[in-house]
Amino acid sequence: MDLVPELPTDWVPLPHPATCLPPACRPATTTPFSNSHNTLKLHFPAEFSDLRGHNHMAKVLTPELGFALDDTIQTGVDNPGHPYIMTVGCTAGDEESYDVFKELLDHIIEDQHGGYQPSYEHKTNLNPDNLQGGDDLDPNYVLSSRVRTVAAPAASASPPTAAAGTPSSLGGHLAGQYCAVKSVTEAEQQQLIDYHFLFDKPVSPLLLALGMACDWPEARGIWINEEDHLQVISMQKRGNMKEVFTRFYNGLTQIETLFKSKNYEVMWNPHLGYILTCPSNLSTGLRSGVHIKLPHLDKHEKFPEVLKWLRLQKQGTSGVDTAAVGGIFYVFNANRLGFSEVELVQMVVDGVKLLIKMEQWLEQGQATDDLVPAQK
Ligand code: ADP
Ligand code: MG
Repeated sequence: MDLVPELPTDWVPLPHPATCLPPACRPATTTPFSNSHNTLKLHFPAEFSDLRGHNHMAKVLTPELGFALDDTIQTGVDNPGHPYIMTVGCTAGDEESYDVFKELLDHIIEDQHGGYQPSYEHKTNLNPDNLQGGDDLDPNYVLSSRVRTVAAPAASASPPTAAAGTPSSLGGHLAGQYCAVKSVTEAEQQQLIDYHFLFDKPVSPLLLALGMACDWPEARGIWINEEDHLQVISMQKRGNMKEVFTRFYNGLTQIETLFKSKNYEVMWNPHLGYILTCPSNLSTGLRSGVHIKLPHLDKHEKFPEVLKWLRLQKQGTSGVDTAAVGGIFYVFNANRLGFSEVELVQMVVDGVKLLIKMEQWLEQGQATDDLVPAQK
């Protein structure tokens, strides 16, 4: 089973959708921080003609029915292409969406996650003792290391648009304060984003289309109610991924205990693991990655092939819409589903070591072709 996402051979990248639109139509300028796609909805009479007296569908399709198929596919309809990645093109509105729209979503999951079948069971292993090495990624190359996962409380809506319950009582060195977006100034907010402590404002057309800007900045904070209700992140400078993963595991365990003590459950099932807004995150929801300096590899034609072989992906350091600057990349595990958490972090640890070795060889003017296998 090949779990590395494949682009169709005839795939041609489209220009970024925001830049295809005439300036007056760009979501970020016309509807900053609002929910652009709701203007097209049939069942919100305040925003669209009330058709309930005209057809049965509009009578029956009330907001009480929950998330509709048009919500599910909205982001893929509004955003047919992306300059750097093959996007998923759909999102779930809640746990139930994965059942109600099974015929659509099962196929998308299978396509995106390299053949993951409806009968497969999610794999989990979070024990940091099972991670081999990872405490010694060379700090001359690795600027910072991070592991995150995402989770949502049972019976909640995705993406979250209101109501934040915040973890208030983590103990020991994990104790801290909740920082709400509304509690900081615009300049402080930007600084938190630049320091990678806070998610970006929901200005991208991909996010606007799935309703992520709805009620912004109500109930948003570090790291609450971005695309999913809760993002658990462990990160630190330099290359001790073992320490990062161990802290991640301890934090996640404490948060789960806290959830249980308050009688909350997390959206989870044995097939999909953590159930999340974006099908790309399903299962472990785990992204482990480094910010890493690889200026020579950056110029090497086989870099993308090597990453694919290692089941890794790269982006610029400021999110999916950014390119690398000065040979500094965000490199992370390409898969979320089909492997356990420890296996995914291990892929990053082993892969990053190999990338550093290749970078060093290139620095010394040595060829690295024999490090790239001819066939996967
Ligand atoms: P995710 O979806 O995993 O949260 P994003 O691409 O949305 O990832 O990034 C969220 C923020 O986390 C961004 O500011 C990004 O630069 C930052 N980030 C990701 N990995 C690292 C890392 N290894 N070190 C520092 N910041 C990081
Ligand atoms: Mg993100």
